[in-house]
Amino acid sequence: MSTFIALPAFNDNYIWLLLADDGERVAVVDPGDAKPVINWLGKHPEYRLSDILITHHHPDHVGGVAALKAGTGCKVWGPAAENIPARDHALEHGDTVKIFGLSLQVIAVPGHTLGHIAFYCENSGDPWLLSGDTLFAGGCGRLFEGTPAQMHASLSSLAALPPQTRIYCAHEYTQANLRFAHAVEPDNKDIKVRLEVVQDLREAGRMTLPSDLALELRTNPFLRADCAAVISAASAHSGSPLSPGVETFAAIRAWKDSF
Ligand code: ZN
Ligand code: FE
Repeated sequence: MSTFIALPAFNDNYIWLLLADDGERVAVVDPGDAKPVINWLGKHPEYRLSDILITHHHPDHVGGVAALKAGTGCKVWGPAAENIPARDHALEHGDTVKIFGLSLQVIAVPGHTLGHIAFYCENSGDPWLLSGDTLFAGGCGRLFEGTPAQMHASLSSLAALPPQTRIYCAHEYTQANLRFAHAVEPDNKDIKVRLEVVQDLREAGRMTLPSDLALELRTNPFLRADCAAVISAASAHSGSPLSPGVETFAAIRAWKDSF
């Protein structure tokens, strides 16, 4: 079992820490800000920062990299196709990152950005995925650089992972995402129940992550572009009949952008 700790950053980012079983090393994922990481390290002197994993180039994911690298000499792993500060290892689809006795598979997931990668691990108990800004709990990232077809293909490759895969994404967007999901599928009971659970968590000031893929497949409209209810809602909203898959995905992504 891998141990993760979430450090809140900015308004709604999470910087994930991955602790090594040796109790001495820690890796950090997408440190948009160095301060929360430095604070944590200050309170846990038994740990040293050994690695930084980067999913994509946006400032809220890489803003703290240079300072952390300068302060610790850690290794920086990030997508080859993007400009990542202080990167030591440029990662391509199919590469494997070996840290802490774990094997992290690099999956290219273009869409939010063109070089966005995800990290998937299946040799540590239940499999887990670092999905960055591609697959969110109840939603997906905006299409800043890629096309709907690219994002749909990326999400489809993540949807094919084992259903028990735990999903560690980079933002606390779950409540707003599920409000939208409920608007798309008002009769979906799993979405209703999940929205209530998430509302309670947020009112208590708690985080809604990690998620798991089985729950996403039942409640995330962006993984459900082949479901009749989603196709008909997207068609009604866009005013013309849409086909399953990319066309429906593109329509619900555009709908969410103005929701
Ligand atoms: Zn981003
Ligand atoms: Fe982000």
